[in-house]
Amino acid sequence: MASRDDIVSFLDDFLKINDISDKSINGLQVQGTDRITRIGLATDAALATYRKAVDAGCQMLVVHHGLIWDGIRSVTGRNFDHLKFLIGNGLNLYAAHLPLDLHAEVGNNAVLAGMAGLSKIKPFGDYYGITIGYSGTLKTPATVAELEAVYARQLDCTPRTLAFGPEKISTVAIISGGGTGLLEEAITRKMDCLVTGEGTHEKFHQAAEGRIHLMYLGHYKSETVGVKALGEVLKQRWSDLDTVFIDEPTGF
Ligand SMILES: [Zn+2]
Repeated sequence: MASRDDIVSFLDDFLKINDISDKSINGLQVQGTDRITRIGLATDAALATYRKAVDAGCQMLVVHHGLIWDGIRSVTGRNFDHLKFLIGNGLNLYAAHLPLDLHAEVGNNAVLAGMAGLSKIKPFGDYYGITIGYSGTLKTPATVAELEAVYARQLDCTPRTLAFGPEKISTVAIISGGGTGLLEEAITRKMDCLVTGEGTHEKFHQAAEGRIHLMYLGHYKSETVGVKALGEVLKQRWSDLDTVFIDEPTGF
């Protein structure tokens, strides 16, 4: 049986939590019980994921989108409901936002790059001074339909593409979640395709004018892969620790 403090310090270190500035308060956001036998992994902090984690016998839930962003102003309303449930059930809540986007091994973007089989992988995507994504080259150039099929199969998603780029895609940039803020950088760096989770209305014309493919995998689906990969690392580190992925899709 692992202790909460050991798991937290391992995660803080592995994900370089204290080196990465973020609006998310990363690390242990809410303290629960001391001894951990099972950890839930989820994309979002939500009452729905907490309930499923407790029902599955978890003492800790590790999420990509946590509860606390920029601090807490009052323990009322939604904050109250969340804290009451978490503390009442002894469920530890650990959040890793940007540290779990940019991590070279278990980060959402590294895993998505691996699924596409990208080579010549380089950091991509300046987000307020932090590079959060990756770019690379497809070993065999692919059509939009072929790259969509790769993600549809491996991520069990239905990609949707604003297809304004070349017939064959070679260079790909990857930013999980709501990554279209990096569209301009992808165009400037002559990427054939930006793969992200979801986008906004005004990106249509920007992609058209930049002659780039903008592929949406779904915000949720694109950010399930990091927590899952992290779960494998935790299981390797503690042989008596069990993990479970808590699936709670948002439709986005
Ligand atoms: Zn996100």
